[in-house]
Amino acid sequence: MTNTAYGFDYLIVGAGFAGSVLAERLASQLGLRVLIVDKRPHIGGNAYDKYDDAGILIHPYGPHIFHTNSAQVFDYLSQFTKWRPYQHRVLASVDGQLLPIPINLDTVNKLYGLNLTSFQVEEFFASVAEKVEQVRTSEDVVVSKVGRDLYNKFFRGYTRKQWGMDPSELDASVTARVPTRTNRDDRYFADTYQAMPLHGYTRMFENMLDHPNIKVMLNTDYREIVDVIPWTHMIYTGPVDAYFDFKYGKLPYRSLHFEHQTFMQDEFQPVGTVNYPNDYGYTRISEFKHITGQKHDATSVVYEYPRAEGDPYYPVPKPETQEIYKLYEAEAKQLDNVTFVGRLATYRYYNMDQVVAQALTVFGKLRAKHEGLLQE
Ligand code: FAD
Ligand code: UDP
Repeated sequence: MTNTAYGFDYLIVGAGFAGSVLAERLASQLGLRVLIVDKRPHIGGNAYDKYDDAGILIHPYGPHIFHTNSAQVFDYLSQFTKWRPYQHRVLASVDGQLLPIPINLDTVNKLYGLNLTSFQVEEFFASVAEKVEQVRTSEDVVVSKVGRDLYNKFFRGYTRKQWGMDPSELDASVTARVPTRTNRDDRYFADTYQAMPLHGYTRMFENMLDHPNIKVMLNTDYREIVDVIPWTHMIYTGPVDAYFDFKYGKLPYRSLHFEHQTFMQDEFQPVGTVNYPNDYGYTRISEFKHITGQKHDATSVVYEYPRAEGDPYYPVPKPETQEIYKLYEAEAKQLDNVTFVGRLATYRYYNMDQVVAQALTVFGKLRAKHEGLLQE
C-alpha cells in the first residue's frame, strides 16, 4: 500500500467499536494512515456516553453493559481504560411484582407463592415445558424450557413490543440470549468479565483514537468525502443495505426512541434495569447511576420505546431477512478494497465484545495481506 501525500491508507466509515478498534490496530501496529469518519457529532457509535445537564453520566443510545468471556477482548480494551466491576441485575414487572429475570428459582417461588428448592424447580420446569420437536423460533426456545405461562408473562409481550412481531416469527437466537436458571443467581449476565469502563466509554474511545496516524472527521457522511479524499482501502461499519443503495431491498433494522429523564431524588428503581413485558409502550427503564456507580443527589433514567423507523439499532434475525442479507453479503465479498465489519454491516445481533472480537479477527487478515504486499 502506498501513501499519496495527502491520502490515507484506510478510510473507516463509523467510529463505533468496529471502526475504532480497526483504526487503532491499523495505525498503531502497522503504522498506516487512517481517516475515520462518522456522520454523528461524536465517536463511540451506539456505545457513546456523556454527562447530561444534571452532570450524570448517561448512555444516550440506551444502557450499555460490558460483559465478555474473552480474555483477548478484555485485555485488548484494558489498554485504553481502567474498569469498575459491575454485575447487571434486571427485574421484570409482572403481575404487580418486580421479579428477577432471567427466570430463576426466586422468580418462580415469588410469582406462584411457592417454596421450591433448586431440585424441585427443575421438576416444575419439566412438568410445564412443552415438547418441541425442533427448536427454531424464539417462542420454541422459551416454551420448551419453562412452559406457556412463564412465556406469556415474561417473553411474549416484551418480544412483541421490542420487535413488532410475535416470538414465533423470530429466530431462536433472540430469546436464547436470556437463559433460565434453577438456582438463585440473579445476574443478567454470567460472563467471566463484567465491568464498566471506569471513566466511561467515550473516554475509552478517545484513548483508542489518540494516535498521530488517525484523523477523526465527525458530522460527515462518508459519501461527502469518498470521492474527494484519496484512500486505498475502506472499512465500512454502517448498514450494509445502505452501502449498496438498497439494490436488493431494505433490510429491516429495528429502532428505538429513547426518552431520557432526570429526577431530583437519589434513586428511581432498585436495580439498573426494570423490564415491562406487559404494560406501557416502553420495554424497559434503566437507571444509569446503578450501572456507572456515580454518586449524585439526582438520578437519570432512560425509557426505551421500540420503533420500526429511525436510526438502525438491531438486525432482525429471521429466515426472510437472512435471505436478503446473503445477497448483500455475496456482493460485499466481491469488493477487494472494502471490508464490512460490525453489527450493522454484517447484519448480526452482536454485543460489544463480539464486535471487538470480529474487528480483531479482521485486523489479523488485513495484517497478513499487508505483510504479504510488503514482501512482494
Ligand atoms: P455502531 O456502534 O452502530 O457504529 C456504527 C457507526 O457508523 C455509527 O456511529 C454511525 O453513525 C456510523 N455510520 C453509519 N453510516 C454512516 C455513513 N454513511 N457515514 C458515516 N458514518 C456512518 N452490547 C453489549 O455488549 N452490552 C449491552 O448492554 C448493550 N446494550 C445495547 C443497548 C441498545 C439499546 C443497543 C441498540 C445496543 C446495545 N448493545 C450492547 C450492542 C452494541 O451497541 C453494539 O454491539 C456495538 O455498539 C456495535 O458497534 P458497531 O461499531 O458495529 O456499530
Ligand atoms: N426478552 C423478553 N423479556 C425480557 C427480556 C428479554 O422477552 O424480560 C427477549 C426479547 O425478545 C429481547 C430478547 O429477549 O429482545 C433479548 O433480550 P436482551 O436483554 O438481550 O436484549 P437487548 O439488551 O439486546 O435489547
